[in-house]
Amino acid sequence: LKKGHKILKIALDVPVNKLFDYMSDDQNIKVGQYVKVPFGNRKLIGLCCEISNQSEIDKDKLKLTINTEQEVIFDSSMLKLLYFVSEYYHHPIGQAIMSVIPTRIKNNPNSFRKKELLFKAKANLSHNIINNFPKRQLRLRKVANAILKENLRQSDLKKITSNASECIKKLEELDLISSEIFIQEIKRDRIIPPTLNEQQKNVIEQINKYKKFKPWLVHGVTASGKTEIYMSLIEKQLSNSCDQVLVLIPEINLTPQLEARFQGRFPDKKIVVLHSFLSDIERLDNWREAKNGHANIVIGTRLGVFTPMPNLNLIIIDEEHDPSFKQSEGLKYHARDVAMMRAKNLDIPIVMGSATPSLETWYKAINNKQNFQYLKLQSRAVDSSSLPTINTIQVNDKTKLEISKKVIDGIQKRINKNEQTIIFINRRGFSPVLVCGSCGWVANCQRCSSRMVVHLQKKRLKCHHCGADVKINNSCDDCGNTDLFPLGTGTQKVEEVLKYHFPEAKISRIDRDTTHSKKTIENLYKEMNNRDIDILVGTQMLSKGHDFPYVSLVVVLDADNALYSSDFRASERLFSQLMQVSGRAGRGKIKGEVLIQTVFPNHELFESLKAHDFDRFSNKLINERKSMGLSPFSFNALLMVQSKNLEIAKQFIFDVSSWIKQSSLEEAEVFGPARPALEKLKGFERFHLYIQAPSRNQLHSVIKPWVSQIRQHPYVNRVKWSIDVDPMDF
Ligand code: ADP
Ligand code: ZN
Ligand code: ZN
Repeated sequence: LKKGHKILKIALDVPVNKLFDYMSDDQNIKVGQYVKVPFGNRKLIGLCCEISNQSEIDKDKLKLTINTEQEVIFDSSMLKLLYFVSEYYHHPIGQAIMSVIPTRIKNNPNSFRKKELLFKAKANLSHNIINNFPKRQLRLRKVANAILKENLRQSDLKKITSNASECIKKLEELDLISSEIFIQEIKRDRIIPPTLNEQQKNVIEQINKYKKFKPWLVHGVTASGKTEIYMSLIEKQLSNSCDQVLVLIPEINLTPQLEARFQGRFPDKKIVVLHSFLSDIERLDNWREAKNGHANIVIGTRLGVFTPMPNLNLIIIDEEHDPSFKQSEGLKYHARDVAMMRAKNLDIPIVMGSATPSLETWYKAINNKQNFQYLKLQSRAVDSSSLPTINTIQVNDKTKLEISKKVIDGIQKRINKNEQTIIFINRRGFSPVLVCGSCGWVANCQRCSSRMVVHLQKKRLKCHHCGADVKINNSCDDCGNTDLFPLGTGTQKVEEVLKYHFPEAKISRIDRDTTHSKKTIENLYKEMNNRDIDILVGTQMLSKGHDFPYVSLVVVLDADNALYSSDFRASERLFSQLMQVSGRAGRGKIKGEVLIQTVFPNHELFESLKAHDFDRFSNKLINERKSMGLSPFSFNALLMVQSKNLEIAKQFIFDVSSWIKQSSLEEAEVFGPARPALEKLKGFERFHLYIQAPSRNQLHSVIKPWVSQIRQHPYVNRVKWSIDVDPMDF
């Protein structure tokens, strides 16, 4: 090794599970820094993970790094977490690390958000001076006058005149104005917290007893005051100005209301948010505030779990059960589980809250597995008696897609009283499809084995899997008949029917098609709170933590399909969603009512719901899962293989499945290969294989050698394959 040279082990975004050795003559290089290196005939950026003087590669063959960036991206504790994540999810180490670095740094390591300037008049700027400017320089006069009148923000320049920056330059040359970085002063009204009730105090006291690693489940119905509990715990943790806490929440919950609530409660603390509605540069800015320790509270969605925070001492996960914590592409991590590992590494407490915890977490918590502690809040914080009444309405196969008379009457009653109704549709598998009335043909996606969904307003057919978007057919592809009609309930269809019954009412819809931005959600909030909306129709999104104070009726259409889904989590999810939406009915002084249309009113799920009894249904699910050996009584992984070429995909999956079957029948069971419900997606033919083991360790000891073997398969570059540990969808 040449004098002064070091060997770096570098993480690169390539699908090989190892760090790559390079040589560097940079004396100041640190672990965690960004480096640029030659790779084949490309130049790649990567992260320096180790510095050493050992290499398995012949020292003469080591290539030199091209350059290094100064910023340290991840410290050693973050790298430790990422090593674990790579190992646990069987994802190549370089790709795991690179995929959680903010996009903006990857593209342009030196980008910083431009700070806005504020222009101020110097003492010698006066009306006299301005009047002496040449007559024709109108723009210069305008700008000078404006600054003389008051300090001017850079962003307001264009309101005064075009080309204002030239005038600024001129005025600076004449030494008449100065500039400084503009800092927005946000006035925040301090929110005085409510006096905590006994059950809240009890929970807080228990949790505060421990300074070290301990996972807590706070199980409390909607509005039982969990958020107040989090804030009180946070307050305790932020006694020093450098202390940090991480709050993870589902994307949809990160509303301006929540941000404002935290800001109001902690007016002197620096709070940053990290979610996907931010621009790349905003995200990077906030991420840096967390990394350099300035931000005390980081509120983030799934990816936020990978935010470097040097003084982190508490993690909170709100709505622990929410499926959006699971990433389903690329690195298929579950943010809650990664957070657990992070808390354990740092030896700090982690608090999870939910009105409807996931069966896995609930089971662990009530049985104190993995050190888990279970804490329950029995009733709502205010108006504790006001849980809504829940009733089922019997429908049959023919009438189940209609809106029953009881529901229509219920809505009318609410409209008369100026109260609001929410109509909840369990969207899974129940979007309207286009059917031929004469031969039964259904419009399918050309690229996926799924049905096209009818979007009436825009007169389009869309595939919700691949995004294909075509005009609604005029005639049947098979028989040419022109009598095509949409079948099934979709939010749009329901909206149409409601318009017919309530022509005067203001009806609004929230679903994947309407909700694209934070702004739409914000507006929806405003309209609901101003009672500008009478009826709100929506899907899953409605079951998330929104508070609508004037909603007194929640109607559930079409819930039944989840009861018989092939996905064993479907009924857990339905129960959870229904409990969550029911929680939206009747806040404040208004008594709430929930009406559920179902073909099976006596099903245990609805019985438990009527009794507001989470434990009852969960115990039933636990017994079912136990007898069938499903999660949490077994640990699983799902191998997915896709190729445009059916034969190649098939050959690959059958080869790798025979490998695992030969090697591991004792520890693990292997199911498949089989075709998933969606056999074809975006033109790719798909197969999957399901591996089940009685313990986590057994699962990993089976998968690990197998995955390395898969990476050697001759077709490995001709298929897309991925392994999903603890998969959530089937
Ligand atoms: P959750 O997070 O469980 O849904 P929140 O903490 O948001 O519940 O509380 C629901 C509502 O009750 C909020 O408006 C909150 O300010 C109020 N609240 C919570 N705890 C109390 C309390 N001890 N006294 C009065 N109001 C409370
Ligand atoms: Zn036809
Ligand atoms: Zn498609």
